[in-house]
This record gives sequence, C-alpha cells and structure tokens, in this order.
Amino acid sequence: MMTQTIAAVIWFAGLVGWYIIRRPFERRAKKIGVSRSLFDRRESSLLAVALIGLFVIPAIHVLTGFPRALDRPFIPTIAWLGILPMVAALWLFRRSHADLGRNWSISLQVREQHALVRTGVYRLIRHPMYSSFFLLGVAQMLLLANWFAGLAGVVGAGILFAFRVGREERMMLDSFGDEYRAYMAHTRRIIPWVI
Ligand code: SAH
Repeated sequence: MMTQTIAAVIWFAGLVGWYIIRRPFERRAKKIGVSRSLFDRRESSLLAVALIGLFVIPAIHVLTGFPRALDRPFIPTIAWLGILPMVAALWLFRRSHADLGRNWSISLQVREQHALVRTGVYRLIRHPMYSSFFLLGVAQMLLLANWFAGLAGVVGAGILFAFRVGREERMMLDSFGDEYRAYMAHTRRIIPWVI
C-alpha cells in the first residue's frame, strides 16, 4: 500500500541516508589540507540554493501542505516509481564519495596531494555526484504530489550544476592540465555517453 504519508516518509528516509553517507567525508575533509580554494560567497550561495530546493522547500511542504494550490493528484504507482531514482541516487552518492576519497570537497577546492580520479564511477562521467543530486530531485518529484515542492529539487540541483560545473572544470584544467583534458575527451559530464 502506498499513501502520501508513506511517500513522504520514504523521501525523508532518503535524505537521512544521504546525510549518513556524507557525514564521515565531511569529518575527514577537515583534517586534509587545501592547496587551492575557490570556495567564495558565490559557491556558498549555490550550495544554499541546492539545499533549499532539495530539503527546505519539500520539508515545508511535507510538514504544512504548502502550497496547496499546486497539489497534483497523488498516484500510488508514481510514488512507487520514485523509489527507483532514490535508491539509484543513494548508491551513486555513496560510490562517488568512495571513489573520490580524500580528494572530496563540499565546494571547489584542490587538496594537498590531490589525485585526479578516473576510476570507478568516474570512468564514465566526470560529475557522478551531481548526477546523484538530479536523481534525488527526480525521486522528490515522483514521491511528493505537489508541483512546487516536487520540482524544487531538480531546479535547485540544476542551478548548482549550471553555475558550478564550468568553473570546476576550469579549476581541474588549471591543476591537472593535459591529464584532465584527456580525461574530458573520453567522458561525459552527468549521463554516460549522453551529456
Ligand atoms: N564534480 C564531481 C566532484 C564533486 S566534489 C562530481 O560530481 O562527482 C567537488 C570537488 O571534487 C572539487 O573541488 C574537485 O577538487 C574534486 N574533483 C572533481 N572531479 C575530480 C576528479 N575527477 N578527481 C579528483 N578530484 C575531483
């Protein structure tokens, strides 16, 4: 049986899983030196936008029903389907953190002894972590029967991606030069073989 409450609980459980995956990397990152940082006000605003879209807006909706005028019919089959991108998002989020290891940063930073990772999920795409943000947004869209709260995640992830990815790739090119250029030549950004 699938109800709106169960769908909301699944959405929330996904975010808890997300946090559990991220937490150890956040703690470890504090101990690893940064050799170059582009983490400025612009980058923190982008992170805030993604957080508002993927967490704050849907949480307000789940807790208060706001904005009711933009409710769509709740269709159990669609909510069931939302579990697929949620599981995929968590898997990819976990894998990309494991593959990046000590090179991970919440924003645009190059670590001391930073290694360019081209293995694991990075073999096919350069930004699997951003792919997992989009998958999370798709899950939110299918699980929450409201146009505003449902779409907020994909929009938030889209803004973060659109404004960050070019800058991130320029930073990687500055740091790794031809190595990153060669890596770019045979990988896509977020969907293997597509984009
Ligand atoms: N854009 C990547 C990584 C996000 S974490 C993804 O979506 O999976 C952001 C940090 O990861 C950046 O500051 C950069 O230093 C680092 N990074 C990005 N791609 C990398 C790679 N292929 N190898 C090593 N570090 C990378």
